[in-house]
Amino acid sequence: MASLDRATSEALWARVRFYRDLGLTEFYRRPVDAALLAQMATEAEPLDEPVTSDELHSSNLEDNPIAPRKPIFAPPQAAAEVAASDRVAALQLIRDDIGDCTRCALHAGRNKLVFADGDPNARLMFVGEGPGADEDAQGLPFVGKAGQLLNNMITAMGLKREEVYIANVVKCRPPGNRTPEPDEGNTCSPFLFRQIDVVRPQVLVALGATAATYLLGSRQPLAGLRGRVHAFRGTQLIVTYHPAYLLRDPRQKKEAWADLQIAMRELGLKAPAKS
Ligand code: SF4
Repeated sequence: MASLDRATSEALWARVRFYRDLGLTEFYRRPVDAALLAQMATEAEPLDEPVTSDELHSSNLEDNPIAPRKPIFAPPQAAAEVAASDRVAALQLIRDDIGDCTRCALHAGRNKLVFADGDPNARLMFVGEGPGADEDAQGLPFVGKAGQLLNNMITAMGLKREEVYIANVVKCRPPGNRTPEPDEGNTCSPFLFRQIDVVRPQVLVALGATAATYLLGSRQPLAGLRGRVHAFRGTQLIVTYHPAYLLRDPRQKKEAWADLQIAMRELGLKAPAKS
């Protein structure tokens, strides 16, 4: 069988991903249309590396080292501090601005937009990647299995879920729980920055490499970001694994707990005694 050149191969994979995003997973072969292939190669976005089949099925940067594939924009400047008494209204203003959003392609598959959950005056904020199926159904972040693990992590820190604030990089569920495409993350994340500026937590925990990438404005391996405090928009940013990743690889829970203990130290918290 004749092999395809790189540009055509990338264009084909991009088209396959597009169809998968629409829910089409069954494909059959047709005679090659040379003109169509040439057009697709022209339209294809430049990639750092060829897309592999594994990437199509990977939803997390922890095991998907090349996504997001494009540099993302620099995070906007932090806004002025909002008085604690005004934070509920300020967050509602952001929610109103989002509205029934169609700014990116993710709107097409959503049931419920997932804005945030928790205390607008929280000292601790968690940022994840995007809603999954349970979150999309309920309109709340981290309510599925990964959410249960996050709840356990919060409890282990001596806090209640209602005492923290939780949001995601994108507010609508990516199809098949895939990693948000760069244009989706770039379009939605300004709302997250506004939420962070209103809540202005003392400590911000990025759950997974996608959250870390969009918050820090650059793509770096998670291993190089964990285990330390990053100065970020007037808060302390700590990077750890996404709970969904910990469910897939529970051996990393110990490492995640070490990261959370850094957050606890910054917050002056002590772990509750085990009953
Ligand atoms: Fe709008 Fe964000 Fe949903 Fe995209 S993911 S449609 S930008 S709310």
